[in-house]
Amino acid sequence: MPTTTIAKDLREGHPVWTRYPAPRLPVTPLKDGAKADVAIIGAGVSGAMLAEELSAAGLKVALFDKRGAAKGATLASTALVQYEIDTPLIHLSKSLGEEKATAAWRRSRLAVASLTDRIANLGIPCAAAPRDSLYLAGNVLDADGLREEQRARAHIGLQTEFLSRKVLTDDWGLHARPAALHSRGNLSLNPRQLTLGLLKKALENGATLHAPVTVASVNTHRDGADVITTDGKMLTAKHVVYAAGYELPQTLQGSSRFRITSTWAFATRPQRRNLWGEEAFLWEAADPYLYIRTTADGRVICGGEDDDIADAAKRDALLPEKIAALQTKLARLCPKLDVTAEYTWAGFFGNSTTTLPSIGKLPGMANTYAVLAYGGNGTTFSRIAAEILRAEFTGKSDPDSHIFAF
Ligand SMILES: Cc1cc2nc3c(=O)[nH]c(=O)nc-3n(C[C@H](O)[C@H](O)[C@H](O)COP(=O)(O)OP(=O)(O)OC[C@H]3O[C@@H](n4cnc5c(N)ncnc54)[C@H](O)[C@@H]3O)c2cc1C
Repeated sequence: MPTTTIAKDLREGHPVWTRYPAPRLPVTPLKDGAKADVAIIGAGVSGAMLAEELSAAGLKVALFDKRGAAKGATLASTALVQYEIDTPLIHLSKSLGEEKATAAWRRSRLAVASLTDRIANLGIPCAAAPRDSLYLAGNVLDADGLREEQRARAHIGLQTEFLSRKVLTDDWGLHARPAALHSRGNLSLNPRQLTLGLLKKALENGATLHAPVTVASVNTHRDGADVITTDGKMLTAKHVVYAAGYELPQTLQGSSRFRITSTWAFATRPQRRNLWGEEAFLWEAADPYLYIRTTADGRVICGGEDDDIADAAKRDALLPEKIAALQTKLARLCPKLDVTAEYTWAGFFGNSTTTLPSIGKLPGMANTYAVLAYGGNGTTFSRIAAEILRAEFTGKSDPDSHIFAF
């Protein structure tokens, strides 16, 4: 059955990442009848991680993107690369069972560590820096809930420190919160530089980037799949991977497992002297939650106010109102900051019912895979996807693949 992706207007406004330099990548015109081991639809952070891993493993990779590299949701990401999954461990254990929840949390921890190493080993300049994070009490977990979460995490080897209101105010410069969990081992980076840097490495390994080129259909057959572009050219690959972000493969249209919502973000001017302790990531045990980080030059990025809106015009019309709400919340939490917005943007955001990503073979489609790295841990989940699919395409097995399978 031929299929492609469901087009969406992914984002609006001016993400801060466009102001920092990033490599220019050579694109290759597609030769009709070309062949590859793996065709990847989408050159965002998911496609880039996958292309780098697979090409480093000796596979011939062809990437397609209708916008160009790192121009979809990846450009809107605030890129808090966290191992801490959006759903608290104690809640995920209830919904998925303790074994799966533990495996997912541990794998996320390993994925952030392995991504950190990969960036360092490849020497990708993407402002990568280790970050602590503070998980602030909110309407999902209050102070008692955070203590329970702390015990559950400690039980599986993930240590955190409980911070009281007084410690938060006196030592961290953060106000109006009764408690937080302090953890280590997360990663801050520039998502555009990371994506383009990984793609550059993939191209050096022999991968080809075809952009802007839209994939009109994928026709699967016994020995592989044909990727047909809107200008009528065809590439045949042994495997096709949809790394198309929130533009779902059409075969998943109507699935109740995935939901598109909207989120808004802004960045301030550089103001290193006003920042809180250790520039830790700040996020909340709340729904919707605020997510806050700093950039390498000392700006503050703050996002949140998520809403169940899947209509781009409605999302964009709300931009001033949502940014004002975020500014008020940020000023309350950190009164020393200048919360004037220099960059504002909005984007679609994908959620899955489990909060875990879906990675693997698409049901009912021969030789066709998808990476749906949904949720606030999208970047971490993209790394897990690259590891799982590398194992799959090189004849190995990944012990956690069943947890994330469709
Ligand atoms: C405001 C905001 C804040 C966020 N903050 C964080 C955060 O702090 N941490 C985090 O980990 N994640 C965050 N995310 C999520 C993160 O942005 C996503 O998880 C990630 O960017 C998804 O990457 P991707 O490569 O899967 O998708 P994308 O970057 O959207 O790439 C998919 C690509 O597929 C291409 N494509 C689709 N269909 C076709 C077709 N038919 N033919 C050719 N090309 C096609 C598109 O053009 C697109 O470039 C945030 C998202 C938003 C909007």
